[in-house]
Amino acid sequence: MDGRRNPRELCQNCGWTTGNALSSGYTSRVKIIHTHGNAAIWELSPEGPWMLRDEPNEPNCFWSNDYITQQLIKRLELNVPLIEMHKFGGPDDKFHFILMSRAKGSRMDEAWDTLTQQQKIDVKESLDDCIKEYRQIARQQM
Ligand SMILES: [Zn+2]
Repeated sequence: MDGRRNPRELCQNCGWTTGNALSSGYTSRVKIIHTHGNAAIWELSPEGPWMLRDEPNEPNCFWSNDYITQQLIKRLELNVPLIEMHKFGGPDDKFHFILMSRAKGSRMDEAWDTLTQQQKIDVKESLDDCIKEYRQIARQQM
């Protein structure tokens, strides 16, 4: 009962307290699945289609470059598969939030050993095509 009257924080990331734990049957569907520096990716439901990236507003952060690169690829209409990304936060905000779709399919590091030799060659050729598209961007920007 003391945990309800004088709730103690149990999780510094979400603010979950002993009061929450004792007074509700709630279990969060939102979980951290990856962290990097002062940034994290939250899964919005287990294996669900959406994730939320929470990151400091730092122009030199490679994750920020990831969003800018995705926007450039989309604008140039390159033949490169992209996930969906929606950015929340302005240039003066301390943090940015990016709602992003989960790429469909299997993770390559998990699937690789199950592929046939021909499938591995097909993957390599697909990656080669993507890299050729990226190099076209680099040439256009010079
Ligand atoms: Zn938590």
